[in-house]
Amino acid sequence: LFIAFEGGDGAGKSTQAGLLAEALESRGLKVLRTREPGGTPIGEKLRSLVLDHGHGHIDAHTEALIFAASRAAHAGQVIRPALARGEIVLTDRYIDSSVAYQGAGRDLGTDAVRSLNEWATAGLLPDLTVLLDVDPADGRRRRTAGDAAEDRLESEADEFHTRIRGAFLELAASRPEEYLVLPAHSPISELAARILDRVDALLAS
Ligand code: C5P
Repeated sequence: LFIAFEGGDGAGKSTQAGLLAEALESRGLKVLRTREPGGTPIGEKLRSLVLDHGHGHIDAHTEALIFAASRAAHAGQVIRPALARGEIVLTDRYIDSSVAYQGAGRDLGTDAVRSLNEWATAGLLPDLTVLLDVDPADGRRRRTAGDAAEDRLESEADEFHTRIRGAFLELAASRPEEYLVLPAHSPISELAARILDRVDALLAS
């Protein structure tokens, strides 16, 4: 079972991924919790190319290709092997983040970015994507000062984050049976319970 957590910055993805992992592990299930670039040496290097400030401006196409390359390593070296071992894989961000950030946010086109990433991952798609839908102004308030210092998108206008939010919601609307869309501002325990319910239904099916 492969589950992706998606949503804008400050949506609470890692909190919910952590709570779901705990709940599943407490039942004796084997869970791999990962986040892009998944700890592969090549993926880490690629991520630092995009996120470190020392490399100067990176144009949008280069950025999209670097994220796709990092994701190819993550999918092939980390996620597929774990699924093959029968583990439940929870990832913090996956293809939808690129479709939203690079496709919509950076205007590269959502279809082009989705095709690129489906090729890069040899079509490895999540069984379920949990989309924590966050209002951009809310997300900005929720990010901690510490995170914000590292967040290269912190200075982006709310309009950029609004485009990203719209792209995530469109992806969910295009394949509703593969998404669980939740309002990120709901209480943490309520979100966790709704996510676990949906995962239980998947495990039972
Ligand atoms: O949330 P996370 O720490 O994974 O994201 C790091 C930064 O990279 C965030 O500012 C996020 O908005 C951005 N990002 C991006 N394109 C992606 C994935 C993340 O611009 N495909």
